[in-house]
Amino acid sequence: MTIDQSQVLRTYAEAARVAHEALTALDQISGDGDFGDNLCEGLDRTVAALDASPEEPAVAVAGSVFLDQVGGTSGPLIGLLLSAIGRALAEAPDPRAGWATGVREGLAAIQRVGEAEPGDRTMVDALAPARDALAEGEKFADVARAAFAGAAATAGIRARRGRASYVGDRVLGAPDPGATGVALLFWSLARVAE
Ligand code: ADP
Ligand code: MG
Ligand code: MG
Repeated sequence: MTIDQSQVLRTYAEAARVAHEALTALDQISGDGDFGDNLCEGLDRTVAALDASPEEPAVAVAGSVFLDQVGGTSGPLIGLLLSAIGRALAEAPDPRAGWATGVREGLAAIQRVGEAEPGDRTMVDALAPARDALAEGEKFADVARAAFAGAAATAGIRARRGRASYVGDRVLGAPDPGATGVALLFWSLARVAE
């Protein structure tokens, strides 16, 4: 099985564009309202970089773009995730193994830097169930379902990390923007791969 990395990122960019306003609204509830801008800017810059250098490994390119050019807390954290996936895809025997290893290592890097645990109301709450579903060899559509379920469950928790931790009960009822935004990556993967 091959998975067109470039197509995954292009699909992710399209999904983020569709979700842009909703992600902005979520980050207005829990933070400063820029998460939708940060994600879309990173993915649009990635697509531009892929158009300019179609031979480069797309996920690694995306990782560098997010690490070097995207602001907010989420930019560097998503950069760590995508860079780890890019590295794993370059080394793994097949793309499925690469995505499983890359998400595991990327999440570990995010947790080393950001120190968030599951239940703190961050992107970790979408990534941890995705990592577990990938480790169990589930279909990518089910990996995406697990990520969205994790993101949706953040609506019921107060934040202990990031800006949202300053606003307490105000966030209850609305899911974490970062968790929702990274779940779209797995939806894009499922769209392209299956
Ligand atoms: P900022 O709060 O700097 O504006 P963004 O709006 O770009 O950052 O990203 C906000 C998202 O970052 C949150 O919704 C959350 O998912 C994620 N986040 C914040 N702090 C952490 C952390 N310590 N670990 C993991 N993810 C985090
Ligand atoms: Mg923000
Ligand atoms: Mg900000």
